This record gives sequence, structure tokens and C-alpha cells, in this order.
Amino acid sequence: MVPLLPETAPFSEDQRSWLNGFFAGLLGADIGAAAATSMAPTTDAPAADVEEDDEDHPWHDAAMPMDERMALAEGRPLKSKMMAAMAQLDCGACGYVCQSYSSAIASGEEKNLTLCQPGGKDTAKKLKELIKTADITVEGKLPATPGDENAVNTGVFDRKNPFPAPLLAATRLNAAGSAKDTRYVSVDIMHSGLSYKAGDALGVYPENCFALVNDILSLLHASGGEIAMYRNQLIRELDIIKPTDELLELMQVNAVDQADKDKITRLLEEEAVEGLPAEPQIIDLLLFFENIKLKVKDFIGTLLPMSPRLYSISSSPKAYPDEVHLTVGVVEYEMAGRKRKGVASTYLGQRVHQHQPVRVFIQPSHGFAPPSDTNKPMIMVGPGTGIAPFRAFLQDRKADGAVGKNWLFFGDQHEATDFLYRDELEQYVADGILSKLTTAFSRDGDEKVYVQHRMLQHAAELWAWLNDGGHFYVCGDAKRMAKDVDNALHQIIAQQGQMSDEDARAYVKQMSANGRYQRDVY
Ligand SMILES: Cc1cc2nc3c(=O)[nH]c(=O)nc-3n(C[C@H](O)[C@H](O)[C@H](O)COP(=O)(O)OP(=O)(O)OC[C@H]3O[C@@H](n4cnc5c(N)ncnc54)[C@H](O)[C@@H]3O)c2cc1C
Repeated sequence: MVPLLPETAPFSEDQRSWLNGFFAGLLGADIGAAAATSMAPTTDAPAADVEEDDEDHPWHDAAMPMDERMALAEGRPLKSKMMAAMAQLDCGACGYVCQSYSSAIASGEEKNLTLCQPGGKDTAKKLKELIKTADITVEGKLPATPGDENAVNTGVFDRKNPFPAPLLAATRLNAAGSAKDTRYVSVDIMHSGLSYKAGDALGVYPENCFALVNDILSLLHASGGEIAMYRNQLIRELDIIKPTDELLELMQVNAVDQADKDKITRLLEEEAVEGLPAEPQIIDLLLFFENIKLKVKDFIGTLLPMSPRLYSISSSPKAYPDEVHLTVGVVEYEMAGRKRKGVASTYLGQRVHQHQPVRVFIQPSHGFAPPSDTNKPMIMVGPGTGIAPFRAFLQDRKADGAVGKNWLFFGDQHEATDFLYRDELEQYVADGILSKLTTAFSRDGDEKVYVQHRMLQHAAELWAWLNDGGHFYVCGDAKRMAKDVDNALHQIIAQQGQMSDEDARAYVKQMSANGRYQRDVY
């Protein structure tokens, strides 16, 4: 990238990078807006799936392997096959549930095939195959960027038209010395017309890291005019992490060296290439294939729109009608010798400043809410950021004057540094709102103790709460924690209820059917 600040200006590298970008952005504001009009919503989306919807979804079981799910969807309409390719968690990470995401792709309304986070590469690959065999295209103009002045303002704020909510706070919840960076984030939704309830999630359109955008423009040898034209778009509107096949194909066309072309063929076939991480990001490709020259405009044309991220809301509107609170775990890791940052979590936790607008929308939950009967007991298992919705539930129960008992299982690494919202929770205990607070700090003792171990230690009491009509909630990590907690729940029911494993499974199934077992896992 061509720097706009003189080399002699007295700034650190980070400050220089930020300021260069800032000035480039300012210079490019007008041109950028003009460029964005070419990205107006397309009205000629392919009507790929005109067949009638089928109503039963026998593959809608997260425990079923992909092959079995696809076999069950055989002979069904395209959108059903696409739904079977999803992870079946209805987690909302894509901004839809499995059924509505597949319908949106099949109708051509949604272009991004990589939004199913728990399904990962397997789902994206299967979707691509289905698109190919159905002989339709999901190419086309990108939709107008949500929150952009060019997006149609319907007056109602939603996923397509997010509200620019001023940031109120992004405070670190972990004490000094913690290995973690978990933030309490709050935004102002006054005058937005947005309403929410405990259990809903907030969708956030993040902005990319300025330094990464600058690095990419620099590797593309962007001219001053190109920087001015595209920098804002790269920051706000586009996914600059995940390479698309279109980017790989563009690089292949522009590669001069046959060895590079062959390597890209391997990448397109999802094979490993020595010297690249297993799942290379765009920056890795640009660094690795530094001899391949790409036009900035062509490069931009291969990128997908920025996807929103969801966060379980940590406040109740009954306590904070004009604010939404979140509990955000900042994602940072190293890969192939380079520090990587989760786009949205570092944006919310570290990059956005107080009073700056954050583009948000409400993603209503599908039944994940405190019991409608306020007399019913509530058991909540929420380690780490999994505590997020339960802070909202407790505020809700307090505001309602609910008499039902509340039990929270919380866990994290160290009690001294990672006991999120400790003061609030202990106050709830003192006030009698929280009948029981059971903690598991995994790295404080010789043996690692997790929330599921604590559940097993309290098996008899937990069983009594369930028998009393208790609702059981889990929030947080889907990969391990939610499975371990689910196993512990089955074990407790079988042992304490003196049931066979099969009867315990039926008992849990019935709890789910009655809305008494709810999970918000991601
Ligand atoms: C319904 C729902 C509710 C949620 N609620 C919350 C919440 O309350 N709080 C919260 O913090 N999050 C929550 N999430 C998760 C959140 O939406 C984001 O997925 C999360 O913050 C990461 O987003 P990001 O943009 O920072 O990271 P991204 O830019 O999306 O990067 C994440 C990706 O980085 C990669 N990655 C991460 N760590 C590593 C590693 N060590 N090595 C290699 N690769 C790695 C993985 O591919 C991962 O998918 C929720 C998700 C859902 C679906």
C-alpha cells in the first residue's frame, strides 16, 4: 500500500498503519460510496427451487452423520437436500436456522455457502456440489452492504437493515493475569424501535482489522487511488479471511509459474500444500504466492460479503430496555507464525470505540427463554461465555418477582481471574434470586474439574429439581461442553431415576419436547 503519512512522521508502526488507513478512508469516502452503488441488491436472483416444500425433515438430527442425512433427503427438492447438508443445530450462526438458510440459498437470495459454522468445510463442500449438480449459479452482484447508506432503509431494523447502535462499553471481565479476554459489551438501542427478550441473540456486523486490510492492499500493490477506492469496502463490507474458489481460480489464471498453478489446483481440490496452513486464509495465499499479480478490482470481485456474528444477549429488557449487553470472548490465536484475530470479537472487544456505531439486529430465539410459568425451577449450565444468556434470565426473573428457584453452574479456568460477573452473582445469592451457585474452575486444582463433574456431584438434588418440573438450560461450547453436559444429564436421570439408558433417553427426549431442555450452543 502507498503510505499517505511521511516515513518521518513520529508514530509507532501500529499508529502509522491506522492513520494511513484512516486518511485513505477519508479520501476514499466519496469514491467508495459511488463504487458501492454497483453493489445494489440484485433482483434477478435465480429461482432455483420452485418445487413445493416438503414438511418433514427426518435428517434434522445433529447426531446423524452427513451420509445418512443426505440419503434421507434423496429425491427431495434441492432446498431439502441443502438443509440435510447443514449441521442441524439451528444455532443461528449463519443468521438463519438450517431450514431457512437452505431455502435462502436455493432461492438465490443468499450467495454465501460458507455460513454454516458447525458444519464447516463439509457442509460448504456439499452445498457447492449440490449447486453444481442442480446447474444453477449463486454468482451475481453482491447485495447492498447492510448498514450502508445505499442499503434500502425500510424503517425497520433487521438483518438486512441493521441499526447503528452506539457502543456504551467494552470492559474486560477477566482480572490481570488471566489467559482469557472476555468482554462485557453494551450498546445503546434507544430510539431504534428494536425490542428483544431474554434468550434472544444480537447479530453484529463487524469491521475488519485495519492492519490486515492494509497488509492485503500492500501485497496487492494497490495504488493510492485503489486504496482510496476500496479500503472502506474491505474494512466494512467484505470477508477478507476465507478465500473463495473464485479467488483461487483468479490466482491460477494469473500465475506465471506452472508449479504455482499446480499448487492452486491442489488447493481447489482441498489438498494440503507444503508451506501453507491446512486451512489457509487470504493473507496466507497472498504471502505464499507473492509472485502472482492480481488487479485489486478483480481480487475484490472474488470476495464474499461480511457475515454477521451472533451473540447471546446478556441483559433483560425488563432491566435495560434501551441497552443490549453481551459477553464476548475475544478470539486470538497464532497460525503459521502469524497472529490471527477473530473478526467480530476483536472488533467488539478491542477496535470499536465508545459512542461509535455498531451495526446490529435482533435474532429472536427459538424457544430459548426462561420458563413461562415463573414458579418453575430453572437449572442453568453456562461455563465461560455460556453465562451470557443466564445473566439475562436472572435479571428477567428478578424483574418478574418470579418465585421459581434458580440454580447456576458456572465454570472457567481460574477462580481468581475468570469468575465472570462474580459480584453480581454473589449479590443474587445474597438476595435469594440465585438459590444455588455451583462453580467449577478447571485449572485451580490438580485435577481438571468441569461443570459436568459438578452436576454429577449434585446428582440427587439435580434430579429433585427436575422432578419438580425444573427447566434445564445449557449455553456455550457445542463441540465438547454441551456433549459432556448432555451425557451427565442422561447419567443422572438413569441413576437417580433408576431407569435403563433407553428410558433415560426417552425422559430427556420428553423434556425437550416439552421445552424443558433448551440449548444455546455454538
Ligand atoms: C447463537 C449463538 C450465540 C453466541 N453467543 C456468543 C456469546 O455470547 N459470546 C461469545 O463470545 N460468542 C458467542 N457466539 C460465537 C460468536 O458468534 C462468534 O462465532 C465468535 O465470537 C467468533 O467470531 P469472530 O468473528 O471473533 O471470529 P471469526 O473471525 O469468525 O474466527 C473464528 C474462526 O477462527 C478459527 N479459530 C479460532 N481459534 C482458532 C485456533 N486456536 N486455531 C485455529 N483456528 C482457530 C476457527 O476457524 C473459527 O471458526 C455465539 C454464536 C452463536 C451461533
